[in-house]
Amino acid sequence: MIVVTGATGHLGKLVVEGLLEKLPADQVVAAVRTPEKAAGLAERGVEVRRADYTDPESLVTAFKGADKVLLVSSSEVGKRVEQHEAVIEAAKQAGVGHLVYTSAPRATTSALVLAPEHKATEELIEASGLTATILRNNWYHENYADTIKQAAETGSFVGSAGDGRVAGAARADYAAAAVAVLTGEGHEGKVYELAGDTAYSYADLAAEVGKATGRETRYVDLPADEHAKALTEAGLPEPVAGFLVALDANTRDGLLAETTADLRTLIGRPATPIGVTVAEVAGTR
Ligand code: NDP
Repeated sequence: MIVVTGATGHLGKLVVEGLLEKLPADQVVAAVRTPEKAAGLAERGVEVRRADYTDPESLVTAFKGADKVLLVSSSEVGKRVEQHEAVIEAAKQAGVGHLVYTSAPRATTSALVLAPEHKATEELIEASGLTATILRNNWYHENYADTIKQAAETGSFVGSAGDGRVAGAARADYAAAAVAVLTGEGHEGKVYELAGDTAYSYADLAAEVGKATGRETRYVDLPADEHAKALTEAGLPEPVAGFLVALDANTRDGLLAETTADLRTLIGRPATPIGVTVAEVAGTR
């Protein structure tokens, strides 16, 4: 039996759908913070169990009888190490046979602002002695959904990533990779660097929006301080603006640029090109 945490989130939902294409519903458990959100899955025969990363007992109960658990990293940035530690501890207590974790590119060595929590989690998993697989997911194309919409409406968007490239892929690709690992064999102890087949710059992203809308679209590169100012003037709280500017600095430094074969190998097809996601988000496909 396979338990998926965060099963009400974007990625977790896609993983559950992918599992249901391969396994009977009674082999899949959706472990969620808010069971009401998963009512649709329960109606389809998927057992829904409450699993809150901040409630260790709920986790042990949720993992009972699990051969495999997919720990979808928490969305509560800054609180994740403690939360993930509770999940790892519960997996040990429940006797889970195989833990799969969604991490970040080169998490143990990268200067990416998001890497430290993933590094700490990977180290906790290693120290736990659990049989595990690490899925180091590069960027989701969908992270740029708002940017794409804005660019499609206005013909431009701003950032501070310079010519930095992103080896992103669609969320559905990463979900398919998780399904392949959860339902396949020989993945124990592996660390996969999951990334798209092509890395794109923000200028490339603008060009894809232009292609989708038929209107010339520009990427305007700003110095970091001006980018932060533009974001706060657009209404973002300062810490959020600072975080986004730091991510663009990481992108400019090439920390997301590495393409690998791991994703396409696991899913048995090419990763989704950014142009496909742009067309979907911009509503032209
Ligand atoms: P979502 O925000 O859609 O989903 C996050 C999931 O985590 C939700 O199901 C949420 O539950 C669950 N969650 C949050 N806090 C808790 C908690 N305390 N206990 C139990 N569950 C909790 O994110 P995505 O599905 O898009 O992405 C999955 C993860 O990947 C993110 O959480 C984040 O760690 C990471 N990420 C990676 C990105 C990348 O580009 N590689 C980009 C963005 C995120 P609920 O539905 O109840 O809120």
